[in-house]
Amino acid sequence: MILAVSNLKNPSPLSDGYRGRFAPSPTGPLHAGSLVAALGSWLDARKNGGKWLLRIEDVDTPRCVPGADQEILRQLLACGLQWDEKISWQSSHQERYQRALERLNTLKCLYPCTCSRQAISNTLAALGIETPRNQEVIYPGSCRPASILMNDLGNTPSQKLAWRLALPTGCQVEFEDLRLGHQQQNLNDQVGDFVLCRNDGLFTYQLAVVVDDAEQAITHVVRGVDLLSNTARQIHLQELLGYPRPQYLHLPLVLDEQGEKLSKQTLATTIHTQDAKQALQELRKAALHLGLRNLPAGDTTSIAEWLLAATHAWDYRSI
Ligand code: GLU
Ligand code: ZN
Repeated sequence: MILAVSNLKNPSPLSDGYRGRFAPSPTGPLHAGSLVAALGSWLDARKNGGKWLLRIEDVDTPRCVPGADQEILRQLLACGLQWDEKISWQSSHQERYQRALERLNTLKCLYPCTCSRQAISNTLAALGIETPRNQEVIYPGSCRPASILMNDLGNTPSQKLAWRLALPTGCQVEFEDLRLGHQQQNLNDQVGDFVLCRNDGLFTYQLAVVVDDAEQAITHVVRGVDLLSNTARQIHLQELLGYPRPQYLHLPLVLDEQGEKLSKQTLATTIHTQDAKQALQELRKAALHLGLRNLPAGDTTSIAEWLLAATHAWDYRSI
């Protein structure tokens, strides 16, 4: 399969093989949930004889914790999860994101938004729309012009602007998840015109992840199911930008005792990888979440041996 990457400035290597990735945000060290995503994506790549790339998603700089990236690298290596190729850092990709934004602007599907968070919730309240806590706010389109023209992206007025993507009406996205099967989302009803560049000038995760997956010619996105609801947005962007669509595989989440998702916000504890014994212990816990049974259990097993056995045993259909 030849990937259509001709619209990228630096075309990625033409790939006829599997290219997977792990894309942690350096907002803290790896926790049990992120190790499941790392291990699952690594095993899937290795099982398929593919490449496993590491991308540090440090695009949201205010949320990044100094040193967390180095700690993540150390933890991955302690667990024997070695990556291929050079590590990719989103903070150094501003130009490629800007080019993608400009491309969307020429397609006349971008418009500036001046709404504050508060203004959006006031508008929604006035419309009688309640947004449950922890749920995404569906942008009511307050700033969307009746007809969208090309904007001058370079002209930054004193007022801070965010740039939103104007969705076409009836924007229903369908895709197959390898584990979860057929998925669909109506972006108009469930998301609304979403932000690609924030009013502080930072590009958003949705834009950055799509541009980087294409630049790195990623064929398989294996990640936690908490990201499932972003996939339709990402597919819509891929289609607008003429990028190929990777295969998606969303892995189950690790929940805490209260049944809540582990995250840095809920102060998920970091995994312990100070020595090989601890690291193997963490890998074994992660493997249980991935439905892997009957792996070498002894104390004398090396991480390399264990990972080899896990690669042989890997089958996402038995998660
Ligand atoms: N950086 C995202 C996170 O840590 C993951 C992005 C992805 O895998 O698409 O949640
Ligand atoms: Zn607005």
